[in-house]
Amino acid sequence: MYSHIKKQDKEVFGAIAGEDKRQREGLELIPSENYVSAAVKEAMASSLTNKYSEGYPGRRYYGGQQFTDAIEMVAIERAKKLFGAKYANVQPLGGANANIAMYFALLQPGDTVLGMDLSHGGHLTHGHPVTYLTKIYTFVHYQMKNVETGEIDYEAMRRTAKKVKPKIVLAGFSAYPRELDYTKFVAIAREVGAIAVMDIAHIAGLIAGKAVRNPFDDGFDIMTTTTHKALRGPRGGLILVRESEELAKKIDKAVFPGLQGGPHMHQIAAKAVAFGEALKPSFKKYAKQILKNTKAMEKVFKKHGARMIAGGSDNHLILLDVSESFQISGAEAEALLDRAGMTLNKNVIADDTRKPMDPSGIRFGTPAVTTRGFKEKDCAQVAELMIEVLTKRNDATVEKARRAIKKLALTHPIPESFP
Ligand SMILES: *Cc1c(COP(=O)(O)O)cnc(C)c1O
Repeated sequence: MYSHIKKQDKEVFGAIAGEDKRQREGLELIPSENYVSAAVKEAMASSLTNKYSEGYPGRRYYGGQQFTDAIEMVAIERAKKLFGAKYANVQPLGGANANIAMYFALLQPGDTVLGMDLSHGGHLTHGHPVTYLTKIYTFVHYQMKNVETGEIDYEAMRRTAKKVKPKIVLAGFSAYPRELDYTKFVAIAREVGAIAVMDIAHIAGLIAGKAVRNPFDDGFDIMTTTTHKALRGPRGGLILVRESEELAKKIDKAVFPGLQGGPHMHQIAAKAVAFGEALKPSFKKYAKQILKNTKAMEKVFKKHGARMIAGGSDNHLILLDVSESFQISGAEAEALLDRAGMTLNKNVIADDTRKPMDPSGIRFGTPAVTTRGFKEKDCAQVAELMIEVLTKRNDATVEKARRAIKKLALTHPIPESFP
């Protein structure tokens, strides 16, 4: 592998080789990351990166599309099957692009979106003031009613919806560990004449693997997602429409030419390959194991009396209040655990009293380690090591944990393919 780049460009080769080693020997606990198969990587590295394919299959602006059309059609068909959608747009370059295109498709400037509060788990693209989206649209947010159980305040959400008349009722999150009551979102959206959209970026793999509910089964109209998180595909975005042809047409126009130029066909080929993998029965086992592994970690933190936001987890991620549990900041915890070979991220927690760059929490999850074949006992061991490092914080403890983590990593190599 890399024989050409190694010969031609020592600088870039060195960094890629370093990253490969980092991934091999460390543990990836960032809940939005994963390890793709060699087949997905091959598609990403293919000649398709040379091709311009503006437009959609059968309706392109350039010639030479016999193979790109076939690839995009396969990706679309597999995405539809995977998520029970009637329409799919596989061209968004990432999750943020998918959301921006979705807004472009459904909103006029000045329109209102009702989404999850950022500090309660929502994503930047759900209306954080640092995004340009907030210059165009109005974002109003709902929150958890009870931070210790994770229950959303659906009553307040309904009252707000009736007052602000949103065009979109937006569900979805990057840092929320419970399952939402989808029927309530849909009921509120219907009541105020809004479109119900779920951004499933974090849990698309769990939905595809049928380990959690599919929001389409409860009547959501549209789902946006990334393809590179628990879904274990290449970096990219995807928009799914449950059944409305009218909405699907608007989405297609918004993605291209509304927002993007030429689609990244190498990435679309890799999405098709990853969707093919996710359609296999073994992916269902993978998705269920992610949940079991998170539960195993939750159990350890509970035993030690550590404070988890929402009291634990029903999905792939845990939000730990390290400020209260270990009298340490999120940034300090992130740095300490990084030294011990556990990669995760600091994260704001609901009603955080600390600053966003050094918040009170850390966020971590199990999709990547589950891909490596980790089972409950391995994840429990990781949680014990985390607690030991966060409690003792001395060099000897960090070094001991680093060795244990490296051993766990090396005995669970990143797989090249999935059964
Ligand atoms: C990750 C994420 C995104 C953004 O995806 P990118 O590919 O990083 O642009 C959007 N929404 C949610 C809920 C996410 O978790």
